[in-house]
Amino acid sequence: MQIKYNNKEYLISSKNAVDLSIENNFSGKAPTFYNSSQPTNRPLISKNFVGDVKQGGSCNVPVVSLNIHCTGTHTECEGHVTNSNVSIVDVCPTGLIPAHLITVEPQLTSETDDSYHVGWDGESVITKKSIQKKISQFHSGLIVRTIPNDKSKISRNYDEITAPFFTNQAIDYIASEGVKHLLVDLPSVDKANDDGKLGNHKRFFKYGKTISELLFIEDCISDGFGFLQIQIPNWSLDAVPSRPIFYPI
Ligand SMILES: [Zn+2]
Repeated sequence: MQIKYNNKEYLISSKNAVDLSIENNFSGKAPTFYNSSQPTNRPLISKNFVGDVKQGGSCNVPVVSLNIHCTGTHTECEGHVTNSNVSIVDVCPTGLIPAHLITVEPQLTSETDDSYHVGWDGESVITKKSIQKKISQFHSGLIVRTIPNDKSKISRNYDEITAPFFTNQAIDYIASEGVKHLLVDLPSVDKANDDGKLGNHKRFFKYGKTISELLFIEDCISDGFGFLQIQIPNWSLDAVPSRPIFYPI
């Protein structure tokens, strides 16, 4: 596909598409957050029907239960933190989003002048400076991979291993540079317990459209510019499971 963007022409190929989501195979190994139970996939069972071929049913009819925010890759919008009723299908583009992938190393709170809206001593955070070091020209999509980036992220229990989060200045900076779609490999852009304020979410959604969390971005995908499609089901919710597909240039 040939794309004209900012007076330049780009060529992308579906052959180079990379999936930035965590596969959910309903095997009890999804990443979890806030003591969430695992996603389940059980057959429909009624009086004269079993929705499971293995149990003698004529076809498989699974009934799935899923905590969208706490068990896998998902995309959310302003409606997640306000009573605006904004739905993800209203704000998540169906087309391609120009986007930049960066890799950042979280720092200790003692190593930064940035701040956060609740106590944060000893936490590990993504600062404005660490983002500035990695990118000079922003696009409407920003994908942030954090290091270390080991495969354990695809089934990590984030109640046992605390995740880094963004400083207020980092989020304000990203939003002020015109980023509308922020994607991260963390369970949240906020501290797990920020007294329910979800301060960074609210800061970003003043200008931004979507936040995608719990991605997994393989090391073999290089930092840089490309085009992104955030694939989502047509569900009128403030957050849905998602599958971000990146086409590096
Ligand atoms: Zn979420």
